[in-house]
Amino acid sequence: MQNVITINSQSIEPGHSRTVFLNSYELHTKTTIEIPVHVIHSKEKGPALLLSAGMHGEETNGIDIIRKVITHKDVQHLQCGTLIAIPVINIISFLYGSRDLPDGRDLNRCFPGSRSGSLGSRIAYDLMKHILPVIDFGVDFHTGGSKINNYPQLRCVFDFPENVSLAERFSAPIIIDSTYRDGTFRKEAAKKNKPILVYEGGESMRFDYLAINEGVNGCLRLMHSFDMISAAIAPNMSVKIKKDTWIRANNSGLFHMYTNNGARVKKDDMLGEICNPFGETENKIISPADGYIIGINNRPVVNEGDALIHIGIEE
Ligand SMILES: [Zn+2]
Repeated sequence: MQNVITINSQSIEPGHSRTVFLNSYELHTKTTIEIPVHVIHSKEKGPALLLSAGMHGEETNGIDIIRKVITHKDVQHLQCGTLIAIPVINIISFLYGSRDLPDGRDLNRCFPGSRSGSLGSRIAYDLMKHILPVIDFGVDFHTGGSKINNYPQLRCVFDFPENVSLAERFSAPIIIDSTYRDGTFRKEAAKKNKPILVYEGGESMRFDYLAINEGVNGCLRLMHSFDMISAAIAPNMSVKIKKDTWIRANNSGLFHMYTNNGARVKKDDMLGEICNPFGETENKIISPADGYIIGINNRPVVNEGDALIHIGIEE
């Protein structure tokens, strides 16, 4: 039998589900910014999994992934363990459809945060203080930026076997070796020995159903691998990417992509073209290496130096 779990002074009994709240900040309008945390706490002992999204308020795919996971009938009746799901971490940016907080800060550079800091710092502090102690590991859902579409991928550190094991259980199409960045939830959680993998899929402010379905299936596989649910989903033949590089535009113009996201490409393959609008020049975009396309820029008009195609090189 599991113990009672307590998050920010709100308790959840074994065998119960409850939405609890992190209270981070009161605005000058007297509006309290509360972060809903959906907890499904089974009776039987098992891992405590965090699924979080909406760290950046315009990254909607992850929010929909968590909505779909927590409404799945197997997940609502977990066989063991605990699911702690935060569909929207950055409530205020979600309301405005913006990436950053109203003061311009990126919430995912505010960790570990502080109790008396800015809004971002307080939200980070709440996650560190109330959520990390009650979880074993997690997945934080993100997307590419505006018009940058990431092929469904998990980012983790290959040097840490526990990271790789979790990534293999989730089985995203692409798994990328990705070092920690200062100020991120992932890095600060790792310091507390709580591995959090980052899932990237699709682009901001646009539902991408491949990215959403792969995200949902990954969560279900991860839970099934720990016997939390009975539903079994066939794994992907995940490709492990050790090195990655962006092809940048060597001139400005109309960008046409001839290859699909996720495609396997060979060195010297023509992947696309940049055309001058007046028909004067056409510049071919050539793959610099054998690899996989793991992200593409969907902007029809690009400037010299813009990141166009993200290529991942297999381990
Ligand atoms: Zn993000």
